[in-house]
Amino acid sequence: MNESTFESLGLVEPILSAVSASGYEHPTPIQTASIPALLAGRDLLGCAQTGTGKTAAFALPIIQYLQKSLISRNPRSCRILVVAPTRELAAQIDTSFEGYAKGSRITRACVFGGVGKSPQVKALSRGVDVLTATPGRLLDLQSQGQLSLANVEILVLDEADRMFDMGFIRDVRRIVSLVPKKRQTLLFSATMPADIASLANQVLCDPVRVSVSPEKPTVELISQSVAFVEKNDKRAYLTALIRAQDTERVMVFTRTKHGADRLASALGRDGIPAAAIHANKSQNNRTRTMDGFRSGEIRVLVATDLAARGIDVDGISHVYNFELPEVPETYVHRIGRTARAGASGQAVALCDSAERPLLKAIEKLLRLPVPVAAGPAFETARLAAKADRENPAREVEAPRPYRGGSGRSGGPSSRSSGPSHGSGPGHSSGDRHSSGARGAPRGRSSSSLHAGRNSRIMETGREVDHGAAVARGPRQARRLPDGRPAPGRSPGARPGGRGHEHSARKGPSAE
Ligand code: AMP
Repeated sequence: MNESTFESLGLVEPILSAVSASGYEHPTPIQTASIPALLAGRDLLGCAQTGTGKTAAFALPIIQYLQKSLISRNPRSCRILVVAPTRELAAQIDTSFEGYAKGSRITRACVFGGVGKSPQVKALSRGVDVLTATPGRLLDLQSQGQLSLANVEILVLDEADRMFDMGFIRDVRRIVSLVPKKRQTLLFSATMPADIASLANQVLCDPVRVSVSPEKPTVELISQSVAFVEKNDKRAYLTALIRAQDTERVMVFTRTKHGADRLASALGRDGIPAAAIHANKSQNNRTRTMDGFRSGEIRVLVATDLAARGIDVDGISHVYNFELPEVPETYVHRIGRTARAGASGQAVALCDSAERPLLKAIEKLLRLPVPVAAGPAFETARLAAKADRENPAREVEAPRPYRGGSGRSGGPSSRSSGPSHGSGPGHSSGDRHSSGARGAPRGRSSSSLHAGRNSRIMETGREVDHGAAVARGPRQARRLPDGRPAPGRSPGARPGGRGHEHSARKGPSAE
């Protein structure tokens, strides 16, 4: 049990408020070990993976350092340089800085390849406090004179072993040669092969060494299953499943903020007390929602991954992946919300045909197949979705006060036993890994979005929405009581307007 507090590590306001706004109650082991040393200006060699809280371990002391020494920035320069192997990780780190530095005057930019340079050049033109970058684009901008690394005070090399595997090591060495010798350097790596140890020897000066393994959710206590449900059937299926399973406290994960809003409203209309939580909600609203969820007033919390960070509520009986995450590790993180404190829990993934490659990636990470869902509750849900598809005007089930369902879940079957839902109408047929699966959206669509919107210096806290605010599909249109589609709204509009807020954005994972 980690008894330290963020305060005892030397963090002060407003960082402490930012941390508690993120819902973190205690520092993770890597934070406990790293933060005091980093605040003292030490170099650090961290042997830690994603999932340990390492981003906050370096971001929080860096933000505190910047807040104490906000100076005018030189054009086309940065004071803090974070180098990460992939655009996804870079975007994630940048988003973390955004959250932890909310309300401050700290400026940021995030640059990576594969997208246009102009917005990045513009974002860097006046100089930024924190630049998060992938190596190639960073050197590209530097060689074109759009960026100087001569003012870097703190250099963070994240996931160094991955940079090595991806062939970036020469780029990393070049970056190190371009930053001032007098600097603070942090190097994180999940593994420490000889090449990384030698790099660490060259770039770090008398570092503090910290090594932690990720906190693994007790996956064996979680009963996992996957139900093959086509996208347009998911809502009706989920509603019926929540009712039919013996649910107590439920978390549902969606990919987008708008998706979370829409789903929470739909569940509410079906008589299931639900609320959405995401970064566009005010802090007050989030606190109210979390209080309601903890007290049981809200039975279903519909969350995006970023908003779900740090949510630590006991007694979550079921986690539903309404959409599969694009990063397989996120799946483990999501399902770990159940089965806390030794309790058991169920995790059900709703997988449509386009998501099959994502399921494969998850199974590869788990080194296990996720059992196909089977049993009475799933059968009820399948029939409800079918009925809803065939007669959209019909209610999935008459709304009734929610009590957590009367039916019992049959629990997941093994892959080989029990009837699978994979072959029914509305479910993908045939082999679950059939070649009929379309390529699922890979690579977070936020990448290009991030360049356009997030890479610009931002002081407003906004979550990256990994998809546009466009709901498609006729079944999502509102209907008149007689079942005809309601006029006057495109299927893409969502209740409450603002549906096309970011419609200019594009990306493979746009809903
Ligand atoms: P990272 O290893 O930086 O990718 O972080 C993994 C997850 O842990 C993220 O979802 C963070 O928001 C979350 N996290 C980081 N620090 C804490 C903390 N002290 N308490 C709870 N969650 C945390």
